Formats: sequence, structure tokens, C-alpha cells
Amino acid sequence: MKAYSQEWLEALNLSPLWRARDAELAAATEQLTVAPTSLPHLKAEGGIYFVTFRLADSLPQTALEELREIPPEARSKKIEHYLDAGHGECALSKPEIALMLVHALKTFDGERYVLHDWVVMPNHVHLVIEPRGAHSLSDILHSLKSYTATEANRILGRDGAFWQGESYDRLLRNQDEFDRCVQYVQQNPVKANLAAAPDQYAYGRAGFVAGKDAGATDVRHLETSETPGIEAEQLSVAPATSAVSEIAQMDWPQLKQAVAACTLCPLHANRTQAVFGVGDEQADILFVGEAPGEEEDQQGEPFVGQAGKLLDNMLASIELKRRQKVYIANVVKCRPPDNRNPEHSEIAACAPYLDRQIALIAPKLIVALGKVAATRLLGKEASIASLRGQLLEYQGRALIVTYHPAYLLRTLQDKAKAWEDLCLIKRTLRGLQNP
Ligand code: SF4
Repeated sequence: MKAYSQEWLEALNLSPLWRARDAELAAATEQLTVAPTSLPHLKAEGGIYFVTFRLADSLPQTALEELREIPPEARSKKIEHYLDAGHGECALSKPEIALMLVHALKTFDGERYVLHDWVVMPNHVHLVIEPRGAHSLSDILHSLKSYTATEANRILGRDGAFWQGESYDRLLRNQDEFDRCVQYVQQNPVKANLAAAPDQYAYGRAGFVAGKDAGATDVRHLETSETPGIEAEQLSVAPATSAVSEIAQMDWPQLKQAVAACTLCPLHANRTQAVFGVGDEQADILFVGEAPGEEEDQQGEPFVGQAGKLLDNMLASIELKRRQKVYIANVVKCRPPDNRNPEHSEIAACAPYLDRQIALIAPKLIVALGKVAATRLLGKEASIASLRGQLLEYQGRALIVTYHPAYLLRTLQDKAKAWEDLCLIKRTLRGLQNP
């Protein structure tokens, strides 16, 4: 038996600024056959932390044994080596698991904590994180790891430990340490030969926030800065920039094939088939809904249930017909379970497909049906009431927002407003066709 001490911390290669959590120490201790009797309280309140946690199978037993034999100062490098070599099943390399984790990370970004930087590697995760208010780092990590472990096991159809019990965190004491950690996090995928540059790795902040400046945050301004535009950021994210540019070059057959085989987000797991879209590929008008429902999932065509019939009637009322000079598509191509709204990460994963459809069709007018489609196309959340009745824009194309037919089936009193919108759509389309 050995009491916690500087010696013990060094044996674990934890400088005094590195801490393992109380509950997690038991697991670390068990593996290293050291049984501590007390733990010095090292956790500082507030501050920004560099955090690492890893998959349960990321370090082989032989590695743990080897680590005991080498000097403490060499252990950190060895652990990094094992992690970056991708030991174990590397469940985080599966897009559906990585996206679920990224979504979970982003959910409370700006609320319970500020994520200054992050990367999801195949078998471990690095964060540069600043807890906010009453939310302690322990609570944040506990809740994040326990939720994502349950979700990952559900997606993988298995149970058992998903994460290693212990996480490591280091309080960053100054701008220099902060900058070095951000640099380390961003370069990790490059160092592990997963990408040529940080912004080409989909599951790190630099690559995930497409088109944004993903450089290091200036720690001197943290106390006054707010995390900018979380919603817009979540909606503008994309898979890997390389995947996005590949999709952006596809022709119709390639795009259809890619969607049919896509596994970029967890929705692929329960679909009968992906629902690509239907209609005239040279249409002047494109209607965009949110996601396939049960009947669409079965039939492979968007808007085929009761809401579909109403959409057909709406089209007829302005002298349009499904498949004739009209194209109909959804924001996501696979059915969300229980017909729930698609999540931000699923919308982001599917975004390049819709964008390519829009580019290939080149419609004069896009009509967003409902809030999910409007939020996706406008990059910000707002009520339909505040968006309808005006001419908006998506990537230089005219955009009109109106109610989703499924909403109109439930809310008859808004049908009159929908009729006004249809008149606006008809007038606008005519004007665009005959300028
Ligand atoms: S919803 Fe889109 S991104 Fe997700 S699996 Fe289906 S096609 Fe791929």
C-alpha cells in the first residue's frame, strides 16, 4: 500500500498540475497495482483545462505492464505513442460514433462550458475546456462520458466499458500553456497521419467548423468573450473538407449512389433506405422538407403520406405538379427514429448532399417547408411566423419560407397564411422565370 504523494503522482506521470478524478483514481490505481489511501485536493476552481480521456481498450495490457517498467518521465510519450498508433477497436473512427460524440460535446458549449478546442481521435479525445458557473469539470466529464458511452454502446449493439475510467486534466496557467495545448490538439490528427492539415480532419474543431478561423483563442479575452453563434456554427459544420469537396464534384448518378450507401451519421443504422429526392432535375423550383418519415422510408420518396398529399394539393393550387418542373428533397436523407427532428450533427453530416442537389438543379427559387429546413438554409433559428412572407436568399438563390404540410394538417387556422405564402411563391417564380 502506498499513500498518495508526490512520488505516487510521479509514478503515474502526473505532475502536480495533472489530476485524476477521485472515482477514476480507483481504476487507474487498480491497473497500476498501487492502492492510495488519500488524495490531495488539487482541483482549482475555474480556469481552463487541457483534458484527455480515452477508450477502454486504447492501451493494451502489455502496454500497461511496459509502462510500469519505464521511468516516469518517459511514460507520457509512450502513452501518446500507443494512443496515436490507434490501439484497440478505435470505435471513435466510426463516423456515427464520432459525430454523436461531437454533437454531445457541442450541446452544452457556451452554456455549461466553453470549448476552446477539441479533437476526437480514433481512440481518445482531447479538449481545451473552460467550465462555466456552477458546472465543475468533474461533473461535465462524468455526464459527457456516461451519456456517450451509453449512446455508443447502443449504436454498436453491445455493452460494457466504453471509456477508460480515468481522465487526465491539466490546469492551463497562462497564455503560453494555452497556446501550446491548442497547437497540440490541432496537430494531433496530422501527427497521427490522419490528415495532411488540421482543417482536413473532420472530427477536430479546425476541420469541423468549415470555413471559419479555427486558430487558437486568445486567453486574455476569455472572461468577456461569448462563444459566437453556436447554432449557426453547428449548422455550418460539415464532414471532412475533403469529403465535402468530393461530394461537390459529383454528378447525379454518383450523388445518388453516395447517398444510398452513406453512413456519415447515425441515421443510416435504422433506415430502410435513404430518401434521395424526387422530381425534375432541371426544375426552377425546389421544395425542401426536413426528413423522411415512416412511409417515405418505406417507399424511398419524400412526402408520400398525408403531408405529401397536402403538398401535392398545395402544388396544384399554384399550377405545379410533383415531378413536373418541381423538385422535392429533404434536409436529411434518412429517417430519424420515432420521427423526431434531425439533430444538428445529422443535418451537418447531410448538408453537402443537399448543397450538391441545389447546385445540380440550380433552381431559381427554393421553398423551405418548416422550421428545420428554414434553420438549415438560413443558418439561424427563427420562428416561421417571423420568416414567412418575405423573399430571403440561400447562396444567391431566392428563398421563401412557409409552413411544413404536416404542421398545417395539425393547425388548420394557419392554412390561410400558407395560402398567402403560396401566392407569394407563385408570383416570385413567375417573376424569376420572366424577369
Ligand atoms: S442522413 Fe444523410 S448523412 Fe446521415 S446517413 Fe443518411 S445520407 Fe448519410
